[in-house]
Amino acid sequence: MSNRRPLIAGNWKMYKTCEESVEAAQKLTSLVDGVTDTDIMIAPTFTSLFSVYGVVKGSRVDLGAQNLYWEEEGAFTGEISAGMLKSAGCSSVIIGHSERRQYFGETDETVNKKIKAALSCGLKTVFCIGESEAQRDLNLTFSVLDKQVQTGLKDFVSDDLRDLVVAYEPIWAIGTGKTATSEQAQEVHTFLRASIAKQFDEPLAQSIRILYGGSVKPGNIAELMSMHDIDGALVGGASLDAETFSQIVKF
Ligand code: PEP
Repeated sequence: MSNRRPLIAGNWKMYKTCEESVEAAQKLTSLVDGVTDTDIMIAPTFTSLFSVYGVVKGSRVDLGAQNLYWEEEGAFTGEISAGMLKSAGCSSVIIGHSERRQYFGETDETVNKKIKAALSCGLKTVFCIGESEAQRDLNLTFSVLDKQVQTGLKDFVSDDLRDLVVAYEPIWAIGTGKTATSEQAQEVHTFLRASIAKQFDEPLAQSIRILYGGSVKPGNIAELMSMHDIDGALVGGASLDAETFSQIVKF
């Protein structure tokens, strides 16, 4: 484990009604009440954000959204801006999740616009990257990640990226039960720090938090967190149950 402060983030995806979200958030806030050494974030669906904010406000749990649109406002039916997320109580947002890239056509270029909108509005941004199984098999993992980082963080300087967190999520490990080994994840995280040092500078590369995501559970979090360059986790399926997620938080 590093000296960077751990962050455990839960992505609730398209699960839970407002009532279910509020109930899960209530359980979670009480379960993690005594946790002081780890940052905690949950990202419910848009429709649950404001109600969940009423629960987590003043607690150990930060509120995040799963996406945003980069314009401030306008005729963009169905979209939500960074300012709207802030007014709903969000302090964080997840950008570029592989499901958004796969099913909703997000590209490194649109991810870059979204990161700009999020950071300029003061939202902590969890920037997701990751390779597919085919890309890994073709030994393209590092080149794919390098391009995602270069394009996703285009036009920024290191001072802009204080509120940025990178989440390395190999697509083949998301929701599949296949976790990258801690050595595989550590190898990629080391590569990502070098890539960030090359594009920006060494102090940013050393201070930026890099989360691992992909089938994280109570049974594998401690091993992952024992690696020097893994600073936390982005958790999907196992974040839906408050008790299970709290066990991950308390790794
Ligand atoms: C995710 O959605 O970011 C994720 C990592 O999902 P899971 O934990 O279910 O693999």
